[in-house]
Amino acid sequence: MSWRDNLIKIEPYVAGEQPNKTDFIKLNANENPYPPAPSVIKAIEKFKGGSLKKYPDADAKPLAAAIAEREGLKRENVFVGNGSDDVLALCFRAFFNSDKPVIYPDITYSFYPVWCDMLRIPYETIPVDEDFGINAADYKRENGGVVIANPNAPTSIGRGLDFIREILDANPDSVVIVDEAYVDFGGTSAIPLLAEYENLVVTQTFSKSRSMAGMRIGCAFANTELISALYAAKDSYNSYPLDSVAIEAGVASIEDEEYFRATLEKVIATRDRLTAELRGMGFTLPDSCTNFVFAEHPKYSAKDICEFLKTRDIYVRYFKKQRIDNRLRITVGTDEEIDALISALKDYIK
Ligand code: PMP
Repeated sequence: MSWRDNLIKIEPYVAGEQPNKTDFIKLNANENPYPPAPSVIKAIEKFKGGSLKKYPDADAKPLAAAIAEREGLKRENVFVGNGSDDVLALCFRAFFNSDKPVIYPDITYSFYPVWCDMLRIPYETIPVDEDFGINAADYKRENGGVVIANPNAPTSIGRGLDFIREILDANPDSVVIVDEAYVDFGGTSAIPLLAEYENLVVTQTFSKSRSMAGMRIGCAFANTELISALYAAKDSYNSYPLDSVAIEAGVASIEDEEYFRATLEKVIATRDRLTAELRGMGFTLPDSCTNFVFAEHPKYSAKDICEFLKTRDIYVRYFKKQRIDNRLRITVGTDEEIDALISALKDYIK
């Protein structure tokens, strides 16, 4: 026996590549190409560094209160964490303590199996159909919990509330997590269903639509019993996930609704233009409800296109995974970035 036998054996989640250079077009991590709201920058500039000597508010109460007010909920129905990855990991820990498997689609956010492995939660994946559609009827089976990303990633497909309702109606005895990381770009939020379903948890993030990926703010919405379980999980792990700067900057982001809406509109317009251009070049892709597209070309390999784009200093995401290994996940950048991408693709696809 050696200490080596006791090391964690896990295949970790692999995030989009962060190239070690400055002058390139980064369309591989679903970041927002626009900066956070001016109110956020101002809040950070005004932040009194001296106050860092104290711990932050352990439950990020001012931020939870601001988010709750915007959503028409009570603060007790909101949990705030260090990015939605942190919030989701705590949800898995807090809600999935059954011997039955947690279920989620086979094509979805690839962090879910990593948390299950890490936390020793049994799980089963349910195949999506050929068009990456999730069939709600498949989720009518015994399980220890359900996770649905809506819109789904990396497929970009968003579904309506009837779909979420069907899954909830089939699963009154399980916690159903709806991961809404991309919902603001054209999805439908399940937040209105919280009043009807006591087993529903909705998670969201400031990383995408609020352009704050570098700050790490995510949140969960649920009834007070589930939120209390999340706090118990957090307080058994890290009492202070959000730092004082993040709490103030997060509140400032919520205060600038106008900038938030205007940025979303720009990203959505560029996405729709990109979609049309890609289809014009022969790519197939679902209509996206997110800030990325998921495209395949019948004649060219996604891996080769991805490598070619790198030679032009354009980074997109390619997943070496069965069923999707001929797809590119391309984040919507600024209009100029997308023009450069389209022009490079046109050079490649002659
Ligand atoms: N859910 C989905 C579906 C995602 O794609 C991401 C981004 N990688 C996250 C959650 C987590 O984002 P963050 O931790 O930045 O909030």
